[in-house]
Amino acid sequence: MASQEIETLTAALSRLPGLGPRSARRAVLWLIKRRETSLVQLVDALAAVREALVECGTCGNIDTTNPCGICADPRRDAGSLCVVEEVADLWALDRARLFNGRYHVLGGRLSALDGVRPEDLAIDSLLRRVEEGGIDEVVLAMNATLEGQTTAHYIAERLEGLPIRITQLAHGLPVGGELDYLDEGTLAQAIRARRPVA
Ligand SMILES: [Zn+2]
Repeated sequence: MASQEIETLTAALSRLPGLGPRSARRAVLWLIKRRETSLVQLVDALAAVREALVECGTCGNIDTTNPCGICADPRRDAGSLCVVEEVADLWALDRARLFNGRYHVLGGRLSALDGVRPEDLAIDSLLRRVEEGGIDEVVLAMNATLEGQTTAHYIAERLEGLPIRITQLAHGLPVGGELDYLDEGTLAQAIRARRPVA
């Protein structure tokens, strides 16, 4: 029977995406054996994240400043806005340096199954950003999943009538493909060949 401290840490780690109780326990044991090195580094990194990182009030990105580095960067094309489901998608697109505009993070996707409704996502704030003007293209960069495409369709409808071009990623994206998992070549192709929403 492990100590309460180990149980608590194992339980916390096992809630991380991709980690179950077994791998969490292995990670805990691994860290305990390296308590002077890897464990110290992890504690410091977690503390730094907790203290330094904030959510951008404009786009929903996670950064050390609010507004984030992307929103504050004057070299970015303010007229072009790329809408993504999650911060991880923003980072995937930005790592590939394919898009020189700004972003808007929805914080998820519409899902009847999981009970995610439009008001649970940052859709009203997206509309406000577009209505404020200065934006002439909105790129819908949802995942090529059923829920992602449902979300893109819903947003395209909400944006209808506003004086903007609405485009979406070309679906050289594999069906069911999640942006975060794509290689940069595939992502590059998808964003270069983006097409108007019908
Ligand atoms: Zn931002």
